[in-house]
Amino acid sequence: GTGDFARSLAIRLVCSGFKVVVGSRNPKRKAGLFPSAAEVTFQADAVKKTDVIFVAVFREHYSTLCDLADALAGKILVDVSNNTEINHHKESNAEYLASLFPACTVVKGFNVVSAWTLQSGARDGNKQVLICSNNQEAKRTVAEIAQVMGFTPVDMGCMSSAREIENISLRLLPAWKIPIFLALGLFLCFFTYNLIRQVIHPYIREQKNKLYKIPIEVVNTTLPCVAYVMLSLVYLPGVLAACLQLYYGTKYRRFPDWLDQWLQHRKQIGLLSFFCAALHAVYSLCLPMRRSHRYQLIEMAVKQAVEKKMNIWVEEEVWRMEIYISVGIIALGLLSLLAITSLPSIANSLNWREFSFIQSTLGFIALVISTLHTLTYGWSRAFDENQYKFYLPPTYTLTLLVPCTVILAKVIFSLPCIQQRLLRIRRGWEKGRYVKFVLPSATGDYSSGETSSNV
Ligand code: NAP
Repeated sequence: GTGDFARSLAIRLVCSGFKVVVGSRNPKRKAGLFPSAAEVTFQADAVKKTDVIFVAVFREHYSTLCDLADALAGKILVDVSNNTEINHHKESNAEYLASLFPACTVVKGFNVVSAWTLQSGARDGNKQVLICSNNQEAKRTVAEIAQVMGFTPVDMGCMSSAREIENISLRLLPAWKIPIFLALGLFLCFFTYNLIRQVIHPYIREQKNKLYKIPIEVVNTTLPCVAYVMLSLVYLPGVLAACLQLYYGTKYRRFPDWLDQWLQHRKQIGLLSFFCAALHAVYSLCLPMRRSHRYQLIEMAVKQAVEKKMNIWVEEEVWRMEIYISVGIIALGLLSLLAITSLPSIANSLNWREFSFIQSTLGFIALVISTLHTLTYGWSRAFDENQYKFYLPPTYTLTLLVPCTVILAKVIFSLPCIQQRLLRIRRGWEKGRYVKFVLPSATGDYSSGETSSNV
């Protein structure tokens, strides 16, 4: 083929020192698109000149290559194709190609690399190339080519993995689906709650139109709620896992599937929490820019002038605001650190102790500081009757529920008696399991006894 993929592949192969022959149905017309070091010729001529052939044509055109079957016999065909839908055909494209050319050895590979990645060159980061085939030798040959081109070949086993390899490039953010739905669900719930309190309540009770609050104020009170609850949801599954381990008295019993899934999605949940917190910071910085804010300030100043009020300084409010903003900035700083260290390139440069210190200890400190940020925001509002719109408590009191549970559980788990037991379980100790060991007696003979392994 001489399409986008074939062209990029040829350029990369030539740059990596390979001799390239390109097979086309119309070589004259296409030759100008390829580097001069690559020979562009008719398909029948090209297949004679090499033992490894990249089939850079679409699946529906495979059958048009059947005339070349004799010339292709005994050669390696690399199937680089992708489908347009997951599980589009009954068998994978590579298996279909193998069925059309039984005298060839088919290797699936390179389909997860785009034409753009191929062209951007070896210096533009490394990329994995997933490879599978029923023939070990052919697989090794293709893996070596990938390695020389600057890719990391990953052996995915035999040809039955081809379907999975073809599906990989069609999946849209598979690890992010659950965390994104979770974030959207929380956003929707808190947004509706805040809308009722900040817009609908003043309209029904005082006939005041507060719709202007929706784009910034309501969104900006919703975002921190989502960020805060999501951050606590990063640490809640760890707490639940510890509870289960304490209850079972072993670490060798499997967690329920939902908890397993939750534990695996902590990174994405944490990153979405950081995303919402960062948006909240930007929205908050923009609050004074709003025209509504300026009108309200002028209105207040006029009111004070009319009432001849001189001293409007409220010491408690000043302190509350200073602490509130300061802890908010620290929490955002810590969250940024967690987000940066979760990037594979950074995480790979840390040892296990450093990684777990940042993600576990600093992450928990970020949760505690975010709780302080929320508490200083709320201050005494939870005890003010006027804050209960339609009997609904202020939003921040609701957000405190899960994070405070997590913090309380962590405090309980840090009690020496519980911490010790948990530590022993995580080192392999099991409740009610007995081990047999032999005691040397004073007389020199040996007597055996059974005792609990924790003795
Ligand atoms: P393309 O630009 O449409 O090129 C397809 C080429 O197939 C044509 O240039 C044509 O070359 C050749 N061909 C051979 N027999 C044909 C026939 N009967 N009818 C039409 N064309 C025929 O497609 P592409 O983007 O390069 O993709 C090629 C393969 O690579 C596909 O299987 C695709 O799934 C896979 N792939 C592409 C990318 C990418 O980023 N583009 C990434 C991964 C995988 P001649 O006219 O010279 O014969």
